[in-house]
Amino acid sequence: MKNFQELGVSAEIIKAIQELGYEHPMPVQEEVVPYLLGENNDVVALAQTGTGKTAAFGLPIIQKVNVDFNSPQSLVLCPTRELCLQIADDLHNYSKYIKGLKVLPVYGGSSIESQIRSLKRGVHIIVATPGRLLDLMKRGTVSLSTIQNVVMDEADEMLNMGFTESINAILADVPKNRNTLLFSATMSPEVARIAKKYLQNPKEITIGRKNESTANVNHVAYKVHAKDKYAALKRIADFNPKIYGIIFCRTRRETQEIADLLVKDGYSADSLHGDLSQIQRDAVMQKFRVKSVQLLVATDVAARGLDVDDLSHVINYGLPDDAESYTHRTGRTGRAGKTGTAIAIMNLREKSKQREIERIIGKKFEEGKLPTGEEICGKQIIKVIDDIEKVKVNEEEIEHFLPEIYRKLDWLTKEDVIKRMVSIEFNRFLEYYQGRKDIENAQDGDRRDRDRSDRGDRGDRNDRSRNRREEGSRSPRQADAGYSRLFINLGKTDNFYPSELIELLNKNTSKRVDLGRIDLMRNFSFFEVEEREARMVLDSLNNKSWGDRKIVVELAGDDSNKSSSRKRPDRENRERRPKNKYGKSNR
Ligand code: AMP
Repeated sequence: MKNFQELGVSAEIIKAIQELGYEHPMPVQEEVVPYLLGENNDVVALAQTGTGKTAAFGLPIIQKVNVDFNSPQSLVLCPTRELCLQIADDLHNYSKYIKGLKVLPVYGGSSIESQIRSLKRGVHIIVATPGRLLDLMKRGTVSLSTIQNVVMDEADEMLNMGFTESINAILADVPKNRNTLLFSATMSPEVARIAKKYLQNPKEITIGRKNESTANVNHVAYKVHAKDKYAALKRIADFNPKIYGIIFCRTRRETQEIADLLVKDGYSADSLHGDLSQIQRDAVMQKFRVKSVQLLVATDVAARGLDVDDLSHVINYGLPDDAESYTHRTGRTGRAGKTGTAIAIMNLREKSKQREIERIIGKKFEEGKLPTGEEICGKQIIKVIDDIEKVKVNEEEIEHFLPEIYRKLDWLTKEDVIKRMVSIEFNRFLEYYQGRKDIENAQDGDRRDRDRSDRGDRGDRNDRSRNRREEGSRSPRQADAGYSRLFINLGKTDNFYPSELIELLNKNTSKRVDLGRIDLMRNFSFFEVEEREARMVLDSLNNKSWGDRKIVVELAGDDSNKSSSRKRPDRENRERRPKNKYGKSNR
């Protein structure tokens, strides 16, 4: 194994990274650093978060900066604001001893003016989310004509988020004789397309194809009926009183619902999803980082960039659609030499996803059996006793209260006092579990599993037959109480995703619209808005344009018998995809 010096890393950088505790290069660094230090070398690296990829591209691009030339020389593109800040922060740290080197994070959701001011003062490395960078380019406040290195980090995620057009527009403005480096957790067809288009004879590197941390992670699957999903989550949390984990849900709505339920039921929980403002998201992440929140309920996208090393559990509230999301999620536990537990609360219909995940992680799920009420109560009582034993007693502060306390409790024996103290904490569990039936594992062929009406199962969109139904008919589902379900003639083939919908609403409605569930189909979509706002939304969006498309929005269900006539324009529209779609929001 080579050391950093042997890889060609400069002394100033080595000094900085040694202070961060980097003694030996990680495999991705060993492969990428010397190669990138050379000229005109493109790289495609399949590497996941936690493999040390930031330093792999960060060290060479820092080393290559000519500080005396006060113009942007390297550009790092990444999908989210959080990742953008994290990368910029890492680059600052690596360049601590390089005098005058300036790194600027550029991302949506914060003042564009201060970013423009910094750009005017001059920067060497720009770390950006595509939407905001494009905005700055259109304002003429940033020029990419001096860029020599482009890094696309989490390229798969950027493409998933619909940034393809923005990336194309950005790369069109960067000189062709640059180095391009593409990092992605997966080699999806879209990533391969981008790599083919923009990279020249790239060196291909695969690092940690299997999740690096799986050795330390137990993967446990609890197969339950839809109606038991939330109760199963509670049991898992109750059985692990010191749990510190993320619960991944599939939709923003489900994320909020589960967090609300947990809080109502007395858990230390909070939610993190794209419907929250940036300030709210920052506050939640901070609370979670300092552990004043034990359970964070999050969507995949919102949890990106949340750098927490010591999670005890990652809980999949339903399996994600693709195996890579699973490895991303669960790669967050079992880090830094610790063991972690990845849990899937799933139903039988998700078996094929389970098999695909097992293939990717190279491990079989353990079949979990949910703890009984008695087992949970046993765990909780031990925790209460443990807390009593270990609590720090501020002798001096309580000294003068003690005589009164002793007098008041004088009529109780020591045993009575103990029982009462334990009960303060413990009654909640006892009351909940007393006489409650234990949760059975779902069995193959069990009819109850087809119950789709349960709240806990609402986010599960992977049931193929169900999707087919939705693609075929236009209004398969009732809106939630208080909400109206609207149809819009834009879908995934139009690069129309939740952030585009939000942007469309923000642009065209006079006030903020509370969005409910969003169902994206290939050629059209459904979204829910509060009933009283439905008319306003219909009036505001109808006849507006999306690229070169005229937007059609209708109340879903208004014309379910007209579905065949609706399909025609969709097919036509697919041919006429918007060509220049800028200004995507970075949510
Ligand atoms: P990344 O994949 O870039 O998010 O890095 C994962 C973690 O590994 C971060 O906490 C880095 O600070 C850390 N790291 C990166 N390179 C090294 C290294 N050579 N030695 C020790 N830790 C490292």
